[in-house]
Amino acid sequence: MNTIQRVPVLMYHRVGPAHNNWERRYCVSPERFAAHMYRLAEKGMRACTLADFFAWMEGIQDLPEGSFLLTFDDGFLGVLEHAAPILTKMNWPATVFLVSSLIGKQDEWCRSQNPSGVTYPLLGREHIDAMRHMGFTFQSHTRSHPDLTTLDDDALADQLGGSRAELESVLGEPILYLAYPFGRYDERVVDAARAAGYRAAFSVQPGFNRRGVDPLRIRRLDVFGTDTPTMLARKVFFGTNDGGWRQTVRYYGDRVAQRLQLGS
Ligand SMILES: [Zn+2]
Repeated sequence: MNTIQRVPVLMYHRVGPAHNNWERRYCVSPERFAAHMYRLAEKGMRACTLADFFAWMEGIQDLPEGSFLLTFDDGFLGVLEHAAPILTKMNWPATVFLVSSLIGKQDEWCRSQNPSGVTYPLLGREHIDAMRHMGFTFQSHTRSHPDLTTLDDDALADQLGGSRAELESVLGEPILYLAYPFGRYDERVVDAARAAGYRAAFSVQPGFNRRGVDPLRIRRLDVFGTDTPTMLARKVFFGTNDGGWRQTVRYYGDRVAQRLQLGS
């Protein structure tokens, strides 16, 4: 088997209806989510498990061309209601990063972000149990979703270590992976994550992941509700968050320019 050289990691948040422009960016409608997945499948892509992704990163295992990792931040109930039926049909696994102190509650940290000031329901324990049987893996998104770079050392350790402990008691298995809330991290946060026992952590830095990438700074592509399937396909092809056509023009423009230089 030819192993893949670089693996994109896609990041989604809520799946469901959106009611303002902010939500239309961070929430994907069920119809659009289905269209995204079908487009990726048409392109010969296939979601891999979190375990397979890390086995590939560590050089233990190969992954076929077209492999990508599908992640959902925050643990919205909408992922079960709207994404799980499609993923189950496709037999595609996914990873959900949970805010451990808000299991079965609402996304309180979004109240100040969302211009409408509303919150949405998060997965409860019974949902999480059901989803584990559908191929979902659950990992940490801290205890209460703060910007980790703003916390003092004690609060940072509590958010990282406390979340691991809470999730391990819910799931009964080791929690080794983290997604930084808002994608925010610095050297101190990375060191604290390592000290809290995380083996790897996901950022929102765009790009592909190759073997040898720093496991505590894994790159992800941010998928927006406003991304058409074509825009998503461009993001995955170019490894950028810019799904617009300008990216395509720039890419081929650069290649033409390189060729002209070589010929001169
Ligand atoms: Zn989040």
